[in-house]
Amino acid sequence: MLKEKNNALKESDEPDGLEQGRRDFLKHALTSSAAALVAAPAVVGASAEADNPDADITVAEYFQGHFLLMSDEEKKKSIARLEKRYSAQYKKKTTVSDVEAPDGVLFGYALDISKCIGCRRCVYACVKENNQSRHDPTVQWIQVMKMPKGNIAFSAENLDKGYPRKSEFGDYGVQVGGNAYKTAGLSTEDAQNYYNDDAVPDKDFFYMPVQCQQCEKPPCVKACPVRATFRDHAGVVLIDYNWCIGCRMCQLACPYHARRFNWGEPNLPAEEMNPKTHYFGNRPRMRGVMEKCTFCVQRTREGRDPACMEACPVGARKFGNLLDPESDVRKVLATKRVFRFKEEYGTYPKFFYYIG
Ligand code: SF4
Ligand code: SF4
Repeated sequence: MLKEKNNALKESDEPDGLEQGRRDFLKHALTSSAAALVAAPAVVGASAEADNPDADITVAEYFQGHFLLMSDEEKKKSIARLEKRYSAQYKKKTTVSDVEAPDGVLFGYALDISKCIGCRRCVYACVKENNQSRHDPTVQWIQVMKMPKGNIAFSAENLDKGYPRKSEFGDYGVQVGGNAYKTAGLSTEDAQNYYNDDAVPDKDFFYMPVQCQQCEKPPCVKACPVRATFRDHAGVVLIDYNWCIGCRMCQLACPYHARRFNWGEPNLPAEEMNPKTHYFGNRPRMRGVMEKCTFCVQRTREGRDPACMEACPVGARKFGNLLDPESDVRKVLATKRVFRFKEEYGTYPKFFYYIG
């Protein structure tokens, strides 16, 4: 199925044009500011490795095409190169899968914010499963926001602070009450993203974990000038790390702050590296590329649950096929009070929040 889609992409989207487009973009970007800063180290790195026995692997990787447009033979070679490099680098046999998304599936997620206790076990499980940089830089695809309860507050002192105020022309009455200037409803205004409490949950707060919302209309995909990021046919937005030019347009376009950029070489201790990887998922990334939650593509394309869902101690997380009325996620949509985060942006997230 994916192959047919890839072929369709090849025919209808003029791969030569795509190839040419990226080359042109790189040519222009390399002579201009931001992308040059990011892309240049990779080029320098490639040439500096001329004496390195693995230099041919690095150079071949640098010049390889978009994975979706590769022939089967090219894919095999690319994967063999990566497996060889990772196995040597992390001193353990590493596999890079390219298993395709299942047919007839649209992956979705639902999170019960009334159950979440803010323990961040999902964050740590995600870091471990997906080979994220441990520190310097610290990369975490899930961010748990701690927000004060009861942020819909009315106070007596705001009663006469509305608009218009009493003026020299007389008192026309307060038409817009001062309490209207306080955010009404769920607001991220007072959210703490980096709380460090001794114990959770804090009784005066609630918690809202945020990760890639796997939008059906993903602004990040539209913004990518080289189509390194794309939506697969199971609805998951992915990145070809080798095709990414590090321009960060997608990060700018994402309203959920769900994308992370590798400013430095990722710091992943060999003994902690998860060797079961996927090309579009948790394989180790490199400096100068974008990454984000993939709904654990290396697991979910094989019928397993995402690591964050398995780690949650209170069962706040549900994952499944949105096309299957019997799936947990569909049952949540049918029976609970559900909302989408920032739905006014029209991104149609397939990540839902609910109150159980
Ligand atoms: Fe793209 Fe952000 Fe939507 Fe994820 S949440 S699909 S990164 S726009
Ligand atoms: Fe909330 Fe569960 Fe994540 Fe803990 S593991 S922060 S309870 S979603």
